Amino acid sequence: MAEATSGESGPDLALGIALAELPENGLLAGQVGGEAVLLARSGDGVFAVGAACTHYHGPLAEGLMVGETIRCPWHHACFSLRTGEALRAPALDPLPCYRVEREDGRIFVREKLPREAVKPCPAASLRRIAIVGGGAAGNAAAETLRREGYDGELVLFSAENSLPCDRPNLSKDYLAGSAPEEWVFLRSAQFYREQEITIELGKPVVGLDAGTRALRLGDGPQVAFDAILLATGAAPRRLSVPGAVLPHVLTLRSLADCRAIIARAAEGRRAVVVGASFIGLEAAAALSTRGVAVSVVAPEAVPMERVLGPDLGAFLRKLHEEHGVRFHLGAGVAAIEPEEVALSNGEHLPADLVLCGIGVVPETALAAEAGLAVGNGVLVNPFLETSAAGIFAAGDIASWPDRLSGERIRIEHWVVAERQGRIAARNMLGLRKRCDIVPFFWTQQYDVSLSYVGHAPEWDKAELEGSPSERDCRVGYFTNERKRAVATIFRDAESLAEELAFEQAMPAAG
Ligand SMILES: Cc1cc2nc3c(=O)[nH]c(=O)nc-3n(C[C@H](O)[C@H](O)[C@H](O)COP(=O)(O)OP(=O)(O)OC[C@H]3O[C@@H](n4cnc5c(N)ncnc54)[C@H](O)[C@@H]3O)c2cc1C
Repeated sequence: MAEATSGESGPDLALGIALAELPENGLLAGQVGGEAVLLARSGDGVFAVGAACTHYHGPLAEGLMVGETIRCPWHHACFSLRTGEALRAPALDPLPCYRVEREDGRIFVREKLPREAVKPCPAASLRRIAIVGGGAAGNAAAETLRREGYDGELVLFSAENSLPCDRPNLSKDYLAGSAPEEWVFLRSAQFYREQEITIELGKPVVGLDAGTRALRLGDGPQVAFDAILLATGAAPRRLSVPGAVLPHVLTLRSLADCRAIIARAAEGRRAVVVGASFIGLEAAAALSTRGVAVSVVAPEAVPMERVLGPDLGAFLRKLHEEHGVRFHLGAGVAAIEPEEVALSNGEHLPADLVLCGIGVVPETALAAEAGLAVGNGVLVNPFLETSAAGIFAAGDIASWPDRLSGERIRIEHWVVAERQGRIAARNMLGLRKRCDIVPFFWTQQYDVSLSYVGHAPEWDKAELEGSPSERDCRVGYFTNERKRAVATIFRDAESLAEELAFEQAMPAAG
C-alpha cells in the first residue's frame, strides 16, 4: 500500500527533487509546466503521470499504488504507471505520462511522452462485430475493441435515442441541475466517427439467431456477425396499481427518462418517490436540491436496511429528513390519481410527479428467445461467453461464476458493467481474460458519498466502526464470520485496501 504525500500545489518537478524525498512505494503530488503531476516510486521504477483520474478527476495522490499501478480513491479506476493506460473502469481515457530522468541522486520530470501506439489485433480473422446495447458495457466494449487493435466493422445498436451516457449522473448532478447536459455523454459523436464505431441509435435489436450469429432489427433482414456482445442492461420495474400508467408516473433509466422528470419537476413542486432504493434515494436528494417537496414511500421500516444495515439506513433517513424529505415507511402504493398518491395505510400524498424506484429487471428476452441459457440473467462462463459460441454477455444481464464467493452472481453496478464490457471485448479477440472482479459501487446523496466493495446480497452481521453522522465510518458485512463486503463513508483509502484484500483472497482459478 502506498503512502501519499501531497502539498498545497506540490513542488515543481521540472526543477527536480532528491530521490530520497520519494520513499519506496511512495507517491508525491507536484507539477510540471502548470500541470498537476503524480510521481510514483515502485521498486526501482520512478514514474510520472497526470495526477487526476480521467473519470471524475479524483486525486490519485490519495489513491493506492499496487505494483506499477495506481488506483483512484473515488471510484476505484486503475491506471498503469508505466504507460498511463486506463486498466480498469470507470476511467476510459489514459493518464498522460512524462519522461523521468535521474541525475546525481535527483529525479527530474521532463516532457509529456507520446501515447502508446495501438497494438496489432490478435484476431485478424474477425471482420464484423456487433454490440447490442448502448450503455456502460456496450460502450466500454466498443472502445476496448479499437484499443486492442480490432480494425474490422464495428456496429453498436442501442434502443436509446441518445449517445451512451454516464447513467449514474442521471440520478445525481444532472438531475439536481448542477451538471450541464454535455457532461452526461461518455463520448462525442465525433469520437465514435474517428474510432469508426457505427452507432445505430433508436435501433432495438428484435431477434437473434444464435447458430448463425445473426441479428434482426424491426422488419429488416437478418445480418450475420463474426462475434456479438449482448449488453442490454435492465429495465425499471413498474407499479401495477390503478393509475400506474398516468403520464406523471415516471421511471429513471435513460437520458430521455431524466429529461422527462426534470420537465415535470419544473412544472410541479411535489414529488412522491416510490421505493427507497439507491436510485429512489438519489433522485429524492436531487429533486429536493431542485426545491421540489419530496416524499419517499417504501415498505421497509428503515431505508436500505437490507443492503446497508440498520446504522447506515438510519443515517440515510436522517440525512434526507434534514433536507426536508418526508418518509412514509411500512407503506405501499394503493392507487395513483392525477394529483395524489393513495397509500396502503390510508394516507394520501399530493403529487405532481411520481417516480418509481422499485428495482430493475434484466433485459434477457433477446437471449432467452434465441435459446441461450438464461437463469437469473444470461448465463456466461468465466470469459463472459454465453452458451452460444461467439456470443458474449456483459453488464446488468450477465450472470457469471464469481471466483470469490464460489457462486454465480449478477450485479447491477456501473463499474462492473464497464469492466465486463472490456473483458468481453478482449475475449472476443481471443485474449482469454477471466472475469475476476471484486464488485464496487458508489452512491452520492447530498454531500455524502458512500463506497461499497464486495458482494453481500445477504449477511448475518453488519459491524459498524466510526460514526455515520460524522461522515467517517465503515460497515463490514459478514456471513458466518466471513467478510463479504465493506461500505465506507469518506474512508476511501480503506475502501481501496478492502478491495485489494478481496482480490488477494480470491482462490486460484481451477
Ligand atoms: C439513474 C441511475 C443511476 C445509477 N447510479 C449508479 C451508481 O451511482 N453506481 C453504480 O455502480 N451504478 C449505478 N447505476 C447502475 C448502472 O448504471 C448500471 O449497472 C449500468 O448502467 C449497467 O450497464 P449495462 O451496460 O449493463 O446496461 P445499460 O447501461 O442500461 O445499457 C443497456 C443498453 O442496452 C440498450 N438495449 C436494451 N435492449 C436492447 C435491444 N434489444 N437492442 C438494442 N439495444 C438495447 C438500452 O437502451 C441501453 O442503451 C445507476 C443506474 C441508473 C439508471
